[in-house]
Amino acid sequence: MGLHDAAITRHNVLVTSVDNVLNWARLSSLWPMGFGLACCAIEMMATNASNYDLERFGIFPRSSPRQSDLMIVAGTVTMKMAERVIRLYEQMPEPRYVLSMGSCSNCGGPYWEHGYHVLKGVDRVIPVDVYVPGCPPRPEALIGGLMKVQELIRMEQIGISRADALKKLEEKALDPRVFVEQERKVAQA
Ligand code: SF4
Repeated sequence: MGLHDAAITRHNVLVTSVDNVLNWARLSSLWPMGFGLACCAIEMMATNASNYDLERFGIFPRSSPRQSDLMIVAGTVTMKMAERVIRLYEQMPEPRYVLSMGSCSNCGGPYWEHGYHVLKGVDRVIPVDVYVPGCPPRPEALIGGLMKVQELIRMEQIGISRADALKKLEEKALDPRVFVEQERKVAQA
């Protein structure tokens, strides 16, 4: 840092980069748009309620896309609703993020084969940053996905594209086999 620790404490000096300050502010105040599409939305609502208390992470829903920087697509995206999802996405200011919650939004879910009226993944119409698997995912899983969005923001830098930050995040992701092994050890303990 170039400054003695005592001097930092005494004079309240903090040395960091503009990227770090901006990213810290953005990831600590994520405002998702408040809407749900089907049963997954019930779990999203539960995540916002007092038991899980998303506000402790600075995350609380807004009622307008113009005030939101995160879209949580929670539920079945029908063909009719897809048009509205695109319109809402376009109304969000940049930088904006999309979290796809649950199998329906990820790939069509139970409707993937015969659901003629269901989009087979919201990523066919808007870019998705983080996918949360499950039918429906539990609130813990949604919180895990939101932490991933925060990690993604933490890795962004002025002049570095979102695609590069996503690549870094993927490199950092835990190998699923390692994850299963860890879970097994916890279960045996
Ligand atoms: S993934 Fe399952 S729980 Fe979520 S909206 Fe689809 S059917 Fe409902």
